[in-house]
Amino acid sequence: MAYLEIQGLQKTYPDGTEAVKGISLSVEEGEFIVLLGPSGCGKTTTLRMLAGLEIPTGGQIVLNDRNLTNLPSSHRDVGFVFQFYALYPHMTVAQNISFPLENMGVSKEDIAKQVSEVADRVGITALMSQYPGPLSGGDQQRVALARAMVRRPMLYLMDEPLGTLDADHRMEMREFIREQQTDTGVTTIYVTHDQEEAMALADRMVVMKEGHICQVGTPSEVYEDPSDPFVAHFVGSPGMNLLDAKLVAENGHLAIMANNIPIIAHLPTIEKLKPGSVTLGIRSEYLIPDAEGPIEGQIVLVEHLGAFVMVYIDTSWGRLVMRAPSAVDYEPGAPIRITYDPQHMKVFT
Ligand code: ATP
Repeated sequence: MAYLEIQGLQKTYPDGTEAVKGISLSVEEGEFIVLLGPSGCGKTTTLRMLAGLEIPTGGQIVLNDRNLTNLPSSHRDVGFVFQFYALYPHMTVAQNISFPLENMGVSKEDIAKQVSEVADRVGITALMSQYPGPLSGGDQQRVALARAMVRRPMLYLMDEPLGTLDADHRMEMREFIREQQTDTGVTTIYVTHDQEEAMALADRMVVMKEGHICQVGTPSEVYEDPSDPFVAHFVGSPGMNLLDAKLVAENGHLAIMANNIPIIAHLPTIEKLKPGSVTLGIRSEYLIPDAEGPIEGQIVLVEHLGAFVMVYIDTSWGRLVMRAPSAVDYEPGAPIRITYDPQHMKVFT
């Protein structure tokens, strides 16, 4: 049975903004779920409703058979970390981290042990006797993470908790969060607009747009088989190449034509598939240089990324990005012909 059940959750703010438009999601016990989407798609509002900081205007939140929908935050047993997290300024770092455990009546010895363990893992042991005020934003955020994760609530709720950290600390903290969550098995809902972070952390990711859910799946499911062109382009770095094409009737069958070039791809098994416009999608790694290939273009830009390069090519289909091994030299301005792997050519109807 699902541990956290979100049913038809809605939030319309008093000014009429429909931030969340009836989303439903079942979360298994111990799952790490990432809500991913562009700014304004309703991620934070959803998380705030789970936290009890925002009252839904419709739908239900059920945690382990308990209806939380209208319960105040203090009755929910959730631990949250937000991007701008206020620490208690009059308490030292150690006291800040100990505070939730003291409130729960944990013994002094256990508090000392757990606080020192978590501080060690977050890398803030040297800061324990300092007050938060003078600490850098990144260090404050690490203290906030330690304070949230020293406890084992029913749910961890995290809203862009790594937003203020620099790239190195982000990677470290990402590992810490994932390890800590795996060790404790606390069900986690994590919000980010960073698709790479989402792919790295999630058991399953929930891609949102304009207040609704576009797709729920494991990172590889969402990456390999996006539900629509928006998800295809939003997830992945770079996003999937998208191009306009047509389904045309040919000898009783449907064929795909893009810019008068016949395309080989699996058509989706949708009843009543009819001739008309479709969008094709192909990831950069499935475009291949081929002197006999059907796509002709000119290289406009080459990005060197270590083991491989990203080659941007202007073609009659528009600009395409191809990932290729860095061993081959690609010159901006040079003509090129490419082909594609038909197994990975997606057709979005
Ligand atoms: P971001 O990553 O920028 O925080 P988000 O996906 O978390 O974006 P939300 O913060 O949930 O999105 O906002 C969803 C929509 O609701 C946006 O259009 C936002 O402007 C609007 N919104 C958020 N809070 C309020 C509020 N208190 N009153 C009115 N509209 C609001």
